[in-house]
Amino acid sequence: MTVLIIGGLAALVGSAVLIAGWGLGVGALKSVLPGLATMKANTALGITALGAGLALTASGGRLSGLGRLAAGAALVLASVTLAEYAFGWNAGIDQLIFIDRGPVPHPGRPALGTSVSMVLFGVALLVVRRPGLHVVKSVAGVAGSLIAWAAVTGYVFGAEGLQSVPFFSTVAVHTAVVTLLLGLGVLAAEPTFWPIRTALERSSGGVICRWLLPTAILAPPALGWLLGRAAMFSIYPDGFRWSLYSAVASLGSVWLIMMLASRITAMDAERAAAAELSRHDALTGLANRRAFDDFLMESFSLARRYRHALSLILLDIDRFKSYNDSYGHPAGDELLRRLGELLRSVARESDLVARIGGEEFAFVLPETDLAGAETLAERVRQEVERSAAFRRPVTVSLGIAAIGQETSGVSMLVHDCDVALYEAKGAGRNRVSVAIAA
Ligand code: GH3
Ligand code: MG
Ligand code: MG
Repeated sequence: MTVLIIGGLAALVGSAVLIAGWGLGVGALKSVLPGLATMKANTALGITALGAGLALTASGGRLSGLGRLAAGAALVLASVTLAEYAFGWNAGIDQLIFIDRGPVPHPGRPALGTSVSMVLFGVALLVVRRPGLHVVKSVAGVAGSLIAWAAVTGYVFGAEGLQSVPFFSTVAVHTAVVTLLLGLGVLAAEPTFWPIRTALERSSGGVICRWLLPTAILAPPALGWLLGRAAMFSIYPDGFRWSLYSAVASLGSVWLIMMLASRITAMDAERAAAAELSRHDALTGLANRRAFDDFLMESFSLARRYRHALSLILLDIDRFKSYNDSYGHPAGDELLRRLGELLRSVARESDLVARIGGEEFAFVLPETDLAGAETLAERVRQEVERSAAFRRPVTVSLGIAAIGQETSGVSMLVHDCDVALYEAKGAGRNRVSVAIAA
């Protein structure tokens, strides 16, 4: 989308200069800064063709062939211009469309720098859809953009100085800006070159690039321009200017580093939040199976090492299927949610309450022996039985187990607890059953 807009914009500027500027004689379009270089008619034509070529190839549809044709036309035009420069030749194309009364020696001829950029972008657009040739595209895109960027920064530091540099002497301001824009568009189309690809990604790296690169690229020329102005008017003595420069440069570096740091901090927080989310059950907000397994494993090894107590309660809703059948699945979900709230309200801060299956819940109770677990389980059973939060009275069955001498590991504890739960179910439901082995 961005590439399409850039291409369209370049084509628009190019054709406006060509038609309104050269065709209708609107001087401001030919040269936006009076007295400086004009955008030549052939340059405007080339920019129009490259812009259209960029937009059409980027669209990727049936029109991309047409886009390559436009890029090819710009390539031919710019190549002939380069040949004119190289061989001191006049192919008669400089004044082909409009008579230019511009400065000698070559009135109407696009600047050397512009012509080189146009050749490079033409080549890049011709190979943009050929993955095997993307090195060519990237190198051409970067080189052409660098030339345009040098011309743009040249203007920042005073166009007068540029007049003595043959390569840039005739690059107009808007030519330089639009050429740079085209270069960025060429690089952003099918971005396989890694810095460009990274900058365009949705990843954190992409976000950081988009945040920081504009400052990193624009701050030095802005600073340089300010210092140049200060020098021009001899506002400050040199020593003061350099200390100002170093202070502002330090400030800029600090700013970039702080932006980077704040972005990374935000990313850390996002990642921690995501990790936290992945350990919770979406319906009840309780710990999920994974968090339960981890917590139980950790609690078990701590209890073993320090010879402390550890108990486990497994809870299963009685006849939940029938509740679902009577009131529907959403009502069943609502029951699970409310039961989750109830269980959380009963447990202590140091206990873990988890939803470990569809309608199965668990309490992991560190520092709690079998008697303590039994008290809690009985309280849970009674509170559920008495609760008015459900469509009809609901009961639960609970199995409890605690670690003892013979508990070999976590799986044995869970197994013992499960057996106890089955006993509670078998004995008529709505009851607490204690594992014997523990
Ligand atoms: P029992 O007393 O023997 O435990 O009977 P029960 O009906 O509770 O047990 P059963 O294993 O036969 O059925 C469990 C039901 O739990 C089946 C399923 O419809 C329901 N269930 C499991 N997960 C969910 C869930 O996330 N939402 C809802 N609404 N129902 C669920
Ligand atoms: Mg069940
Ligand atoms: Mg059940």
